[in-house]
Amino acid sequence: MENAQSLDAAVTSSETALLEATWIRIRDRLKTEVGDVEYRTWLQQIVLGPLDEDEIVLFLPSRFLRDWVRGQYGERLQTLWRQESKVIQRVELQVRKETTSPANAAGGGASAATSATASPSPESIEAEVPNARFPTHEIRSDLAAPLDPRFTFESFVVGKPNEFAYACARRVAERPSSPGFNPLFLYGGVGLGKTHLMHAIGSELIRMGNVSVAYMSAEKFMYRFIASIRAQSTMEFKEQLRSVDVLMIDDLQFLIGKDNTQEEFFHTFNALVDAGRQIIVSADKSPSDLSGLEDRLRTRLGCGMVADIHATTFELRISILEAKAKASGVAVPSKVLEYLAHKITSNVRELEGALNRLIAHADLVGRPVTLETTQDVLKDMLKAHERRVTIDDIQRKVAEHWNIRLTDMSSARRARAVARPRQVAMYLAKQLTSRSLPEIGRKFGNRDHTTVMHAVSRVTELIEEDPTFAESVELLRHMLEN
Ligand code: ADP
Ligand code: MG
Repeated sequence: MENAQSLDAAVTSSETALLEATWIRIRDRLKTEVGDVEYRTWLQQIVLGPLDEDEIVLFLPSRFLRDWVRGQYGERLQTLWRQESKVIQRVELQVRKETTSPANAAGGGASAATSATASPSPESIEAEVPNARFPTHEIRSDLAAPLDPRFTFESFVVGKPNEFAYACARRVAERPSSPGFNPLFLYGGVGLGKTHLMHAIGSELIRMGNVSVAYMSAEKFMYRFIASIRAQSTMEFKEQLRSVDVLMIDDLQFLIGKDNTQEEFFHTFNALVDAGRQIIVSADKSPSDLSGLEDRLRTRLGCGMVADIHATTFELRISILEAKAKASGVAVPSKVLEYLAHKITSNVRELEGALNRLIAHADLVGRPVTLETTQDVLKDMLKAHERRVTIDDIQRKVAEHWNIRLTDMSSARRARAVARPRQVAMYLAKQLTSRSLPEIGRKFGNRDHTTVMHAVSRVTELIEEDPTFAESVELLRHMLEN
């Protein structure tokens, strides 16, 4: 750029330098305000654009990022710019995807966008996403489960407990396979929206076109894998999996203790990530807490973006209920929504279930929903919530029933008279609580989760074979639930 020596250019470049300096101050300020992770995820991608009278243009590499930054930080950006500069009154956020070099950037001031500051240039942003990689536009139905059309980003209600996971999901849907987001690991308790978010990513990617997406539960992954071994078609299975652009595996904790399947998943995972494809995984715990997964797999799972969904807050529950009530078209008084949000705190699925029951009831009897009808209609459900069955309850009741000592629930004794009731208690723990297999195992004298699994399948068999036994189990279940 030797020819850029005119006075004009000098003025422009000193103006540019000033803008740059201001922008660096604003960025630093934002970084301390929002924290490193947020900053890196969203704000680092902003590229300074030209000044147009009293308006400064900031570029973002995609529409989604632009909208997100506008929604979350738009006002703050404006305030900071106004504080820092006498001239600037407004901030305009624009999308700029195209690769421009400093020499031929369109419009004088736009060259500021690509000058050497700490912010990444558009080239480096684009380089994250290798081109022409997504050849087909489909969901691999031969291979994977269908996506639930109700689980979209639009129908997901965002609040403090899930905003980070939501933002990450949107980011991946917008630009799959960016290094910092591959794999995307979503984790959180039951019914908090992991599957919903995964489906939303899948649907969004398909809507945008040109992507093949495979979604399946870890359980299904295992069955498919085992079936392929039996059918001597593992190569085909592997090839199918490795041909997708985006692979989503839901409830990965299921692979704990399934060493061969884990191994297979590990290789698939590596092959896909190495080929620049996107992996999205969900689990009930963070990678580091998923004990029982192979270390190397855990390490790789934690390498991209790990986002947790926290338990819902009262506010979020209210927002979700409001959204769902509105969508149903039935008027539900806010008192009722508050009542539900207070009473049902465990997970969104149950919250949704309760509301649906109310709405269905109102529809059937043709009367409006009131607090009284709510209490009446949801009596059983709410009772179950007030009295959550615990593993301790189960152990106590089962021990009483078969007249064994409570300590034998966790003892090492293997005599049938003790072992069978213990298996029943494990079975009931699995059926009546939301504890995971490893958690149940721990409550029974630190037994392995495979022991619990075995107990569950053994008791299931016995219930089918032996009506007297089935009756005992049914009775116990009834006593525990009421
Ligand atoms: P998980 O996979 O974490 O167990 P799901 O994604 O299956 O949970 O969510 C359970 C139910 O709750 C689904 O019907 C889902 O649509 C709903 N749900 C969960 N979180 C939200 C949310 N933030 N907004 C709207 N619906 C939600
Ligand atoms: Mg799920």
